[in-house]
Amino acid sequence: QAKQLGRNRYQLFDLEAAAKIEHHHQELERMRCALQHGELRLFYQPKVNMRTGEVIGVEALIRWQHPERGILAPDEFLPLLERSPLIIDIGEWVLHEALAQLVAWSQQGHPLSVSVNIATRHFQHIDFVARLQAILAEYPGVAPERLEIEILESVALGDVEAMRAVITACQALGVRFALDDFGTGYSSLNYLKQLPAETLKIDRSFVRDMLEDQEDLAIIEGVIGLATVFGKEVIAEGVETPEHGVMLMRIGCDYAQGYAIARPMPAEAVHDWLEGFEPDPRWLLGRREQDE
Ligand code: C2E
Ligand code: MG
Ligand code: MG
Ligand code: MG
Repeated sequence: QAKQLGRNRYQLFDLEAAAKIEHHHQELERMRCALQHGELRLFYQPKVNMRTGEVIGVEALIRWQHPERGILAPDEFLPLLERSPLIIDIGEWVLHEALAQLVAWSQQGHPLSVSVNIATRHFQHIDFVARLQAILAEYPGVAPERLEIEILESVALGDVEAMRAVITACQALGVRFALDDFGTGYSSLNYLKQLPAETLKIDRSFVRDMLEDQEDLAIIEGVIGLATVFGKEVIAEGVETPEHGVMLMRIGCDYAQGYAIARPMPAEAVHDWLEGFEPDPRWLLGRREQDE
């Protein structure tokens, strides 16, 4: 009797599991169609040097213009995608789209740089460097130095020697690297020493609470200190208010990205935004004493 009951329970579980797999399968098929039918779009968010007011580039952020559900943010579709090889096709689409956009902006008189997020699974693919080189070759008007690849700090949890080799090979092409969401990836300091990325991007969770939470502030100061020792640039993401900017400048982080500067916007909006952008004079209040 009990055994019978147990078996039924397992069958129920199997059915649920099977239904879930089927559902995921359909969702992925749906995303493959979205890619083919041009439903994916890139939004762009500016990054600035708060000290000089210079716009140093833009980050490309994917959106799905869903015919029924409207514009979907990446957290609604990326987690599933990251478990599928389709993430590689989409990552390559993002690279093409962003590079083509750089050409268009250059023609409008804006020689911008772009940062592209690459999923760990894509970055670790055996053909990554060769494919990247082939894609760059399709845009001879874009210097590879104008492309920055953002990878998660947690890629370092894999085979560091292999990661290092891939980053170095991409850098030989001219491409730059940033470690995204820095501080959340639990990588050891020893890994940081071995990963030759030029930039650390401080995760927005630390920035959000830095004005109230001494520990988050201390983490940011620690990252800035590390970056200085290792000769890397630091940029803060999720800079939502001018006060965040002032504090970041005070502790030595000049580069920022966040709603206080601009929300991610469609490519067509970037020209007007650049024309109208004025750096916030309050940022300079945080200028460190040694600079006075
Ligand atoms: P991320 O690379 O760390 O990107 C920063 C995220 O913070 C973006 O969310 C951006 O819209 C958001 N953000 C910017 N400023 C602020 C702010 O002041 N306050 C707050 N609360 N949020 C801010 P988004 O666009 O939803 O993207 C989420 C994540 O999805 C990205 O985090 C990135 O990991 C991933 N992602 C986005 N586009 C792509 C892509 O093309 N390929 C891959 N593989 N991943 C992507
Ligand atoms: Mg990013
Ligand atoms: Mg990030
Ligand atoms: Mg993130």
